[in-house]
Amino acid sequence: MQAMILHEHASVDASPLRLEEVAEPTPGPGQVRMKVSACAVCRTDLHVIEGDLPPQRMPIIPGHQVVGVVDRVGEGVSTVRVGQRVGVGWLRHVDGDCRFCRRGLENLCPASRYTGYHEHGGYAPYAVAPADFAHVLPAHYDDPSVSPLLCAGLIGYRALQRAQTPDGGRLLLVGFGASAHLVMQIAVHRGYRVYVASQTAAHRELAESMGAHWTGADLADCPDKVDAAVLFAPAGRLVPGCLEALDRGGKLSIAGIHLTDVPTLNYEQHLFYEKEVRSVTANTRADARALLSEAVAANVQPRTTAYPLADANRALQDVKHSRIDGAAVLMI
Ligand SMILES: [Zn+2]
Ligand SMILES: [Zn+2]
Repeated sequence: MQAMILHEHASVDASPLRLEEVAEPTPGPGQVRMKVSACAVCRTDLHVIEGDLPPQRMPIIPGHQVVGVVDRVGEGVSTVRVGQRVGVGWLRHVDGDCRFCRRGLENLCPASRYTGYHEHGGYAPYAVAPADFAHVLPAHYDDPSVSPLLCAGLIGYRALQRAQTPDGGRLLLVGFGASAHLVMQIAVHRGYRVYVASQTAAHRELAESMGAHWTGADLADCPDKVDAAVLFAPAGRLVPGCLEALDRGGKLSIAGIHLTDVPTLNYEQHLFYEKEVRSVTANTRADARALLSEAVAANVQPRTTAYPLADANRALQDVKHSRIDGAAVLMI
């Protein structure tokens, strides 16, 4: 099969992924093989490719929002059948047995492994994954639309949950890429008043069309103190401003897997009155079930831009430079 492969970390602007012939994968015990139809591009793919995350496997086929139909199952698989449409996200293995897994926090499992990072991902015509981490997808969505829900949606969803916006409360979203535009639709459906700060004019327009109460280029201009904020932009310098935007008791949830350094905080100005900063690490399978079900209920409509697999470098460049609305999806 012809897959997009990374051999060495480099800026995506240098088009480091190469289309190469590799052997089709075979599902091992407990695994399924998917004939991949769509794989959305995630900002984490940029961090894997550019080396912001420590390397785990090289060469690597990236991609962790993998949608496809199961075409082979390995020994002992009973939960998923050949012919079923499934999706595989970032998390693909936990031990199930550590002190985090035992209390429902499998996203914190020290033995966790990730798709397109520890193991090959979905920038390829075929991918294998543990059957336990293959989510059966709702018929409500076609392949390209459901794909960005598998990470952009899921990480955003966990970030939204951790921000704990009260009923009818005010929620500030900072950055408005693939993840935020999905979270926004759920937030509006829940009845929150949503404020959006983004430096990209097209993203502000998209947020307004989705029912934002306020949009602006600079979060310092946010007209009200908010109960909750989610920082999507991977820029630590924005953290103090997000905390200043919070009202008493407000929570800031940081959605990114990677963040540049956070400047010095002032206790009175940024943290006193029980403001909280919370990070988000991957997601649990329960999060995936909850998101897929709430997305259908809220009729979340992912905006997608399709690219052929061979144009993965261009898709990554467009994501990096915020040149698209919503999510880039490789069609395979
Ligand atoms: Zn564990
Ligand atoms: Zn991701």
